[in-house]
Amino acid sequence: MKKIFPILVIVFTSCCTCNKNQNKPVEVEAQEKIPEEISVFENAYPDITFKTTYVESLDDYKIEMTVPGKEEKETLYWCEGRLLPEDELKNKDMYWTVLYHYPKEILDPGQMTEEQKEQLKTMSSSQSRRKGPGSPMFFFDAIYNAKTQKTIEPNIEAAVFLGRKTRIHKRIKTPLKNVETKILELSKTDDEVKKFVDGLKSSDAYYWRLIDGTNRKSFHSLGIAIDVIPKRITGEIFWSWAKDHNPSGWMVLPLSKRWLPPLKVISIFESEGFIWGGKWAIWDNMHFEYHPELILHNGINE
Ligand SMILES: [Zn+2]
Repeated sequence: MKKIFPILVIVFTSCCTCNKNQNKPVEVEAQEKIPEEISVFENAYPDITFKTTYVESLDDYKIEMTVPGKEEKETLYWCEGRLLPEDELKNKDMYWTVLYHYPKEILDPGQMTEEQKEQLKTMSSSQSRRKGPGSPMFFFDAIYNAKTQKTIEPNIEAAVFLGRKTRIHKRIKTPLKNVETKILELSKTDDEVKKFVDGLKSSDAYYWRLIDGTNRKSFHSLGIAIDVIPKRITGEIFWSWAKDHNPSGWMVLPLSKRWLPPLKVISIFESEGFIWGGKWAIWDNMHFEYHPELILHNGINE
């Protein structure tokens, strides 16, 4: 079951190859100019149709997306991986790329250099979090219909995850259900996983709000992030709370002093397209987020 993604990749990659071979030579040439990373999105979201064309006047790639259930096409520009609407291209420095490095292994905070530590201090300052660049949400707003609370709410459904009530975006219903099935199956034979399931206080997903200390929407506002909160929190669980206790050392707090879900639970989430917030430098150990494009881009399940 863990191999679901690599199998999908092989299938879709070979499909793309067939299509290419059937195209006329001129079109093949045009396709080859298109950044390869765009195929990561096509493979991660197979029900969405992506049409990419080069726009000479902007020296950029226009991506038209057809999202099931939406009549109008969504148009974004590649902008070196930022996926921005045309009127945001002038503000491109305010955005990170959509695809970023998500490590296979959990990084040992003890390995962090002084320079990285300083960088993190600056990045996590309230000034930088409010005014600095952040994740571009336009691609996600388009595919989840999440521009406003009014547009997203018809897509939000009641759900139960590991016995705890929550609300999620309907697009993650199947992958989250698969995560639950795998965890419950494993909990029959694995004591640590059973303890995790029994000790769960809540599973909180959809919640329309901004990221703490920023002007940006959280992925909870899209219903594709879920916090698994234990009844008993042993150690620090979230960077910002740890920062209150330890302003200069939270970023290098050893893993042994942080609460972590069982590693097998993290792998199960990843096998279904979710990333874990504990692998971010600005760590959020209760948090999982549905990003099949990052799982594919980083070869996590390979
Ligand atoms: Zn969260």
